[in-house]
Amino acid sequence: MAEETTPPDAIETARVLFARPSSFLMGAAEIGQLPDTNLPEVAFAGRSNVGKSSLINALVGRKDLARASNEPGRTREVNLFDVDGRLRLADLPGYGFAKAAKTTARKFQNLGRAYLRGRPNLMRAYLLIDSRHGLKPPDLEAMDALDQAAVSYQIVLTKADKLKAGELDEVLRRTTAAVAKRPAAHPEVLATSSAKGDGIAELRAGVATVCGLTEA
Ligand code: GDP
Repeated sequence: MAEETTPPDAIETARVLFARPSSFLMGAAEIGQLPDTNLPEVAFAGRSNVGKSSLINALVGRKDLARASNEPGRTREVNLFDVDGRLRLADLPGYGFAKAAKTTARKFQNLGRAYLRGRPNLMRAYLLIDSRHGLKPPDLEAMDALDQAAVSYQIVLTKADKLKAGELDEVLRRTTAAVAKRPAAHPEVLATSSAKGDGIAELRAGVATVCGLTEA
């Protein structure tokens, strides 16, 4: 598990980085509105209500940076957050909400896909999966899009606190087996809980590492 493999100094460097000031930069409804690609970025994608806002808030240690919303499907834009002027977090539009099942994918494919293709400074996309549900068809479509765009991505299980240890091991095992066949996927699946803080330090360390920010 990540807790055993992430070196303590990487955890500490990333903790310090994410403890520095972070801010909302902008929401872009079109790819052309996005800022220069002069800073490394990582992106967060997932089905609506997966816990994306909560995870971004947990990463930066704030309650209110990304809007945590109980209104699935509300986020329609790519929202960018600046972390200490050194990297940016991109919150991609949620996909796969209920009756819009068929348009899911379309939303993700339009703005989300344009983002994923159009940002040479994108170091990694994190695909969030609710650990209670595992990979669903819209997630597999998102993985197809990432594989086709050759965007390096990693699966992050959210809301791990909602499962018993044995159940979490099982969803980790199944998800890890599914990503093993995926060309652009990072082989390690990370289990997180924004509510309890599990996996957040490891996720910070992963973000800092892929952004080349391994010095304090
Ligand atoms: P988003 O739509 O993907 O941005 O999801 P939100 O961050 O708004 O979260 C959706 C719902 O899941 C909210 O009711 C959150 O309180 C809940 N939630 C998010 N993360 C966690 C978590 O780690 N544990 C638990 N138990 N609930 C969570």
